[in-house]
Amino acid sequence: MKYKNTLAIYKSLLIVAAATLLILPARANAAMRVAASFYPLAHFAKQAGGSLTNVETIIPAGIEPHEFDPAPKDIRRIYASKVFIFNGAGIDLWAEKIAPDLEKKGVLTVNATSGITLLTTHGQADPHVWVDPVLAQKEVEIIRNSFIKADPKNEQAYRTNAEAYLDKLRVLDGKFRDGLKSCATRKIVTSHGAFTYLAARYNLETLVLSGLSPSEEPSPRRLGEAVKTARAQGIRYIFFESLVSPKIADTVAREIGAATLVLNPLEGLTPADAVAGRDYVSIMEDNLKNLRIALSCQ
Ligand SMILES: [Zn+2]
Repeated sequence: MKYKNTLAIYKSLLIVAAATLLILPARANAAMRVAASFYPLAHFAKQAGGSLTNVETIIPAGIEPHEFDPAPKDIRRIYASKVFIFNGAGIDLWAEKIAPDLEKKGVLTVNATSGITLLTTHGQADPHVWVDPVLAQKEVEIIRNSFIKADPKNEQAYRTNAEAYLDKLRVLDGKFRDGLKSCATRKIVTSHGAFTYLAARYNLETLVLSGLSPSEEPSPRRLGEAVKTARAQGIRYIFFESLVSPKIADTVAREIGAATLVLNPLEGLTPADAVAGRDYVSIMEDNLKNLRIALSCQ
């Protein structure tokens, strides 16, 4: 009996020693520090970087990126990173402003919409490319390429990680294509203009109540026109967002006797989303469910 116990102890010691040997090389290679301006970019970076990167999201959960101004401590976190990813096209202007200096200081700075053809609304570039699962793939590729540039010895791992996530985005795109194929209507009413790329991808028409940014409150005249259009088009659902006050959507819905539903532009998670482990793909799947309800799809 005593002999058996000693053997067991030797066995566990051997297991611990083997585990230490496996862990040590990983510790010697510290993860690459990456900062990303807001949720989808940070999420894409985590997927492409896996355990090789330590990704910080500069704009915290619950905060809308259009409204954000970085504090000095945020700026310090960005300067301390090896790679900084931002969206560009005007949604994180503060990032575009500090990008040239970051580059000078040796931080690899990545505009995740560079090379993507941007749509414009009233002459203003539309930044919301990540809401389209196909353009989201482009952003993942741009992020993956920046990791390979910053850390070439791990190129294969970044390619493998990114490919696994790109596959999920391809599946998501397929679900949107199938789910929105045959619907009674293709018109959606949203509070801010975050869904132009999504609408263009899946052949939907959007009626936007505020502007490109949720803080652009519509004038009473514009709101009146929107109500008229929505009523004339027989709109039965008005979409609102989790990070923005539903006031405008509620007003219009009440005026025309419509219901409201969430269409999430994924500009950030709510703290509740973060706790529940919701992410880009699961939230986009919820968006698809609500779109299918609002558009009476088969
Ligand atoms: Zn927006």
